[in-house]
Amino acid sequence: MFAGFGVATVTSVTLAAIIALAAICFVVGCGSCCKGRFVPLTLSETSAWLARGGDVAIFVEAFAQYPSRASDPEYLHHSARAAQVTSGSAVLNVIAVFAGSAQPACPNLDEQNTCTIYEDRPLVCRIYPMEISPFITLKPSEKDCPPESWSDQAKDLLIASDGSVSAELSALIEASRSADCCDALQKVSICELLGFNVTAWKGNGYALYLPERRQLSEAIERSAATQLQQLI
Ligand code: SF4
Repeated sequence: MFAGFGVATVTSVTLAAIIALAAICFVVGCGSCCKGRFVPLTLSETSAWLARGGDVAIFVEAFAQYPSRASDPEYLHHSARAAQVTSGSAVLNVIAVFAGSAQPACPNLDEQNTCTIYEDRPLVCRIYPMEISPFITLKPSEKDCPPESWSDQAKDLLIASDGSVSAELSALIEASRSADCCDALQKVSICELLGFNVTAWKGNGYALYLPERRQLSEAIERSAATQLQQLI
């Protein structure tokens, strides 16, 4: 459990602004979801993103612990993605989302709107436009994909006629959810190492931090070293 977190509504960012990214570029090649976005990353993807010279933003949100909601699937889903921290005498759940900057465009997108790291692109890029959260319904109207992306031909590659996703896509979504849970504690510990200890209430906005690349890389390394020491 971490200590010393405070809560404040610092920056309001729409959820759509941090849940982005391209994957059906192989169908349409528009690159729309690779521009003006933040790309949520796993911890290992964050290190790779930084190593390529990209910038990473950190979005932090918190919510109170409600034992009475212990059987609420949505509460449990978010709790599993959170680290426990103390704020005064309270214990809060804190979620830190590390997201590669694609502002104004992803640094991995070339002039032909092609992903230059396609084989190594982040999980969310492989999953988009499908939703990772089991509690958000896919709405094509809320996605940046052009109309042709939703043609029957393109759609068959993503969504079966009964609305289910392919086994491959389903595995990617599970991998993303699993990484969210596995990385939760370390991501918050990295925030603490960087002195990022103010958050916002979930649903009201996010605390947004823009760490310098080198500082974030060093904090990730220090956090990993600490974890290793604890295992020895
Ligand atoms: S990594 Fe590739 S697919 Fe992902 S946002 Fe960047 S250019 Fe698009």
